[in-house]
Amino acid sequence: MIQECPHCHRKIIPREKNLCPSCGGNVLDKTGTDPDMTLLVLRDGQSLPGICIHCGRPTDRFVWVEFQRKPEKRKTALESILGFGILGHIFGLFFSLPSLLFPPKGLSYMGKIPQCRLCASMGKVRPEYVDFEHSQAGFLVHKDFKAALENRPR
Ligand SMILES: [Zn+2]
Ligand SMILES: [Zn+2]
Repeated sequence: MIQECPHCHRKIIPREKNLCPSCGGNVLDKTGTDPDMTLLVLRDGQSLPGICIHCGRPTDRFVWVEFQRKPEKRKTALESILGFGILGHIFGLFFSLPSLLFPPKGLSYMGKIPQCRLCASMGKVRPEYVDFEHSQAGFLVHKDFKAALENRPR
């Protein structure tokens, strides 16, 4: 049965002896875990309710987060054929032009995340992971924030 691990908050199927395959913690042992927190996936640019993601209290403070994937530096086939000569550079530029003008999607995640002043003094908004392929990021959020997001009229 798929469940959320209380330690790493990933959705997992516990292994033998109730151990989480992701972090190795015992899913039945909730010592030192925060039952109010849950992992939630937020989409790039998704508008969010004014509820602090850490403590679940109302806030009008939003912080801008932005994560960029470093573009891979790969030689085009043509460049390797022509070598590093001036011709290779010209052809290389010509063929990389479309991607320069129209950057491929899925290279970044950005959004405005609600975080109250009190929680901001304790640390920055940091995602658990960023999924660049789908332009979304997993955040550890308070259950009240999740509820406010899900129950909001669309
Ligand atoms: Zn785990
Ligand atoms: Zn807060």
